[in-house]
Amino acid sequence: MSGTELAPFGAHEYLLALSRALSRNLDLGTVLHIVLEEAVVLLQADAGFVALRLPRTNMRVVATTGLPLETARAFEPLLNSIPQHSETADDTPPWWKQPALQRALLRIARRQQLPFTHIIAMPLEVDGDVIGALIAFRSSERAFTRYEERLLSGFADQASIAIRNAMLVRQLVQERERLAAVLANSADGVALINAERRIELINPALARLSGWNLDDVVGQPFEHVLRLENEAGVRLPAPAPHSDLVRQEGYLIRRNGTRGPYVSVVYTPLAQGRGMVASVHDLSERRALEASQRAFIAGISHELKTPLAIIIGYAETLLRDDVQWDEATWREGLHVILDEAQHLTRLVDNLLDAARLEAGGLQLHLEPVQLDEWLPRVLSEFARAHPSHHFDIALDGAAFPPVMADTGRLRQVVHNLLSNAVKYAPADTRVSLRLTYDDARGELIFCVSDEGPGIPLEEQERIFRRFHRVEGEASRTEGAGLGLYMARAIVEAHGGRIWVESEPNRGATFCVALPAADDNAPKRTIRIRPIDTTE
Ligand code: ADP
Repeated sequence: MSGTELAPFGAHEYLLALSRALSRNLDLGTVLHIVLEEAVVLLQADAGFVALRLPRTNMRVVATTGLPLETARAFEPLLNSIPQHSETADDTPPWWKQPALQRALLRIARRQQLPFTHIIAMPLEVDGDVIGALIAFRSSERAFTRYEERLLSGFADQASIAIRNAMLVRQLVQERERLAAVLANSADGVALINAERRIELINPALARLSGWNLDDVVGQPFEHVLRLENEAGVRLPAPAPHSDLVRQEGYLIRRNGTRGPYVSVVYTPLAQGRGMVASVHDLSERRALEASQRAFIAGISHELKTPLAIIIGYAETLLRDDVQWDEATWREGLHVILDEAQHLTRLVDNLLDAARLEAGGLQLHLEPVQLDEWLPRVLSEFARAHPSHHFDIALDGAAFPPVMADTGRLRQVVHNLLSNAVKYAPADTRVSLRLTYDDARGELIFCVSDEGPGIPLEEQERIFRRFHRVEGEASRTEGAGLGLYMARAIVEAHGGRIWVESEPNRGATFCVALPAADDNAPKRTIRIRPIDTTE
């Protein structure tokens, strides 16, 4: 043994101390650093690196000493030839001792202009799997000895276990972070309940639904947090311990005791009685849609039946054999029949439009339109047919660029807004149409204002939904709750926006903004996509 080699006793102590240092550390970066630095000291080498076979990748250099990471990367292709499992003993020397590998490694070192003359390589193995390799270089004339090889081999065993443990910890941490991210971003509420039936954690969605915060909730009996009651206010029983999958539906009672959203809760037991997972899905939107659909069917049958009853009534009366009607009575009767038939036609057209919209079958034929010329025409036409109200128009500005619009469909939007104003605002009040050009946003905006009952704040978003009608005064007028839904679909298909501004009893102002277009923009046809009404 040459004088520069460590005495066997010293080496063992050293390995022991090293193993202690490694087992205290679970951070992969730190473990790799210790392994590499200590190996280089142990072997009196000048440089070295550790490569690992990371999940789903080839061998990657993950730590270096005495040479830059980028330079060490040049060895990676060669390392991929390392077998995945440790070799069984036979005549041929293991890969890390093969002269060809030594030569190839040295060739790469020379190409990288590294001054290395000797190389020693050692696999990092755990349970027969090669998880990586440790390579050390020397620049001096002194070759690595057999003793040093054995020393490194003993060292590599310790290092491999420490690295594998650190990799497992990192994997666990990553998995926990991934799970936490999934839970944090899930739209559904999730609660983890332990074997003592107490809350271990809830995600932000459940915190929002239940009014509990993420910290206070930990350790609470789960039935304090997931309190459900039915329509009649009767508490639903919490699932019995050890029950199989349980599904419940009801109103979630918030932390402050108020009735929260209507939810479904699914309790899934964990294996070996380790508790359960509750997933909480908010059903309020779906229930609201179902309720408005039920209201629609109730409403629409009334809407369809009333004009039909009037038509049939008048037709039967006029056809009576026992009475001779005079000309005026005939004419009046026929007018009523015509009015009601026209009303039915509008209703059926609206329903068909909505059905076609849902099937994605409505098209827009866009062409440049000067709103400052077109809107006054549409308004005066409408005003003539509605003498009950006073109409005025204001063009706010001198020059208006055109918009790309389908005039047939845009007329439908304007008519809907004007008809609503006439329908909901009392007779003899004022309905105003106003056009402006927002140069900064590049938008033309027109607004219809009335002096009617207005729309409560909480309804202002919902009235654009399919079949939605405001309860109360408005719902006593005729209508199917489809007009604004269609208007929104048409305006959005034009690349525009529609909204309402209103304070109760101060009237409503419906505005439409459409993007300004070039004068010579070509005509084109686009398809209207259905809007999502559940958002
Ligand atoms: P419809 O008028 O056929 O019911 P709409 O979709 O046009 O359907 O309107 C939806 C609801 O919005 C109406 O039922 C009404 O409650 C409310 N609404 C619309 N316009 C006005 C308005 N100008 N003033 C007050 N309420 C309105």
